[in-house]
Amino acid sequence: VPANEPGNPAHAIFERFLRAGECQEVLGCFVELCQQLGLQGTGLQLYHGLKAALNYWNAKALWSKLDKKAGHKDYDQGTACAGTKCLVVGAGPCGLRAAIELALLGAHVVLLEKRDSFSRNNVLHLWPFTIHDLRALGAKKFYGRFCTGTLDHISIRQLQLILLKVALLLGVEVHINVRFEGLVPPAGKAGGWQAVLQPSSSPLTQYKFDVLISAGGGKFVPEGFKRKETRGKLAIGITTNFINRHSRAEVEVAEISGVARIYNQKFFQNLYNKTGIDLENIVYYKDDTHYFVMTAKKQSLLKKGVILQDKADIESLLSPENVNRDALLSYAKEAANFSTNYCLPELEFALNHRGLPDVDMFDFTCMTRSENAALVREHNGSRLLLGLVGDCLVEPFWPLGTGVARGFLAAFDAAWMVRRWAAGTPPLEVLAERESIYQHLSQTSPDNTNKNITQYSIDPATRYPNINLQAIKASQVRDLYLVGTVEVDHKRKTAPGAVYEELLSWCQASTAGYPGVAVTNFSTSWTSGLALCALIHHFRPDLVDFDSVDPQDAIRTHQLMLDIAEQELGIQPVLSSAEMATMTGPDHLDLITYLSHFYQVFRTSPG
Ligand code: FAD
Repeated sequence: VPANEPGNPAHAIFERFLRAGECQEVLGCFVELCQQLGLQGTGLQLYHGLKAALNYWNAKALWSKLDKKAGHKDYDQGTACAGTKCLVVGAGPCGLRAAIELALLGAHVVLLEKRDSFSRNNVLHLWPFTIHDLRALGAKKFYGRFCTGTLDHISIRQLQLILLKVALLLGVEVHINVRFEGLVPPAGKAGGWQAVLQPSSSPLTQYKFDVLISAGGGKFVPEGFKRKETRGKLAIGITTNFINRHSRAEVEVAEISGVARIYNQKFFQNLYNKTGIDLENIVYYKDDTHYFVMTAKKQSLLKKGVILQDKADIESLLSPENVNRDALLSYAKEAANFSTNYCLPELEFALNHRGLPDVDMFDFTCMTRSENAALVREHNGSRLLLGLVGDCLVEPFWPLGTGVARGFLAAFDAAWMVRRWAAGTPPLEVLAERESIYQHLSQTSPDNTNKNITQYSIDPATRYPNINLQAIKASQVRDLYLVGTVEVDHKRKTAPGAVYEELLSWCQASTAGYPGVAVTNFSTSWTSGLALCALIHHFRPDLVDFDSVDPQDAIRTHQLMLDIAEQELGIQPVLSSAEMATMTGPDHLDLITYLSHFYQVFRTSPG
């Protein structure tokens, strides 16, 4: 049957694809569609194949949007990055958004996601440019309710679904249930960079790429990037979602977009007087769910029995053992009811992916950001460009809702960088320009970015006013060009043995002869703290006095070493002193990661 005949099965599959509401369903429909149409291949070639095969009205309306987008001069008609092979880690909004740009540039794009579902109900605030951007990608075709009227927000999962569909149509190869674990440097002159993946049987372990875009979220940053931590005042965030039945009463209740405490003291005072709930701010958005995010004061959480015991460190304060879930649920519900004037009838919790009431408490006291946005590694003559986007570049403070807007800006910046890279720009220039742009990211707001959002493209000059792309000079980013460094972030013993063995034998050689130290593994050999002490002492005897440490007080020794490593060597702790002192069983991946930093720092020392 020709594809444009009425009743054509391909149309029905395509319509199902457009409406699909689960990650796996989207992927399933897409495979089915390509099979039905006999289409193979990836990249823009696949896009053109789909376009030719599906030319009935509804599909055509989408193609015209995407064609308009793809016709932008920055993409050189999809040839700007032809021949560039990219690996994108993470199918969050920012990884997907970056993948779309890379596909439009004509790169070969493989995207990995460790999970197999999109389950976050939480709602993201969208700046005007993100709304415009998503519309231009056809958001309304996939999600009819997208930002109707004055709506300026969307649930994380709906946003992921829209972007996943666009990415697939543009020929991005998406693989779920695959976890990125680290890099394998090229083995010989003819080799290329590859990834260590879980499951290790994945055929993608054979994929060779020259660009890695990491968008793995706040907790995931590839080896080589330094994190900066900003410790602010104590900030405890609570998010909660209630079922939205879209009843008339529900439709009428007004949203609250950022009633910051300073602007509305009276509201918070009343809330406190009536309920004992003490908040700094609260936001309420309606989407698939009724979504609330608030910053709560510790004293009121203690008083209302949500937090059981006051503790100095925030991690123990919010640890599951110290939180009364039922009290947390009541707290969140009471705040939601009060702030909507008790006008949302019968609030019932939506369920999260574990089937539990969707209420969570998060610590925003400590926010991390990466010191740099990109790196280049070179090994055996092969170069790899690494860029960060989204939460792994800068962690956002959710109540301010800056996350996805800055995430998209960074995704565009990363795509621009890849374009420059593919054009053969010298690596240090590419890096210097990327850092010049990155300097601006944390200060961006809808007010100080260019007003003409319809002109936004991956070109930074269209978005940031008066940007100086040479603010940072090539000579200042030499340390972002890493030559021959052996990657040791494989995090698993299943990683290529050579690297693991190399780290182990280096540790053994560096600690040989120290009394009470015998390194045979990455677990129990390190619990007393003496091995770490010996390692540091071996290279920097000025920093520690090996003979004066108390072999009986492992936690204290560890704390001392962790502090010295952090302050003197710039190595961030990965495990706490207590965790280090109590390691048992097989190799600890975190310890391997931690020690690999010492390897990098000391590798070139005479020792
Ligand atoms: P994410 O959306 O976190 O996506 C990262 C993706 O990478 C995930 O799908 C993850 O599974 C995958 N991944 C991670 N490591 C690997 C790996 N090694 N291999 C393969 N895949 C990997 N922001 C708000 O403004 N308001 C909120 O209420 C809010 N709630 C949130 C709730 C949760 C539980 C989380 C995690 C984040 C929340 N955020 C919220 C932040 C917001 O989701 C992000 O700012 C936004 O999604 C953009 O993030 P991203 O794409 O960079 O990362």
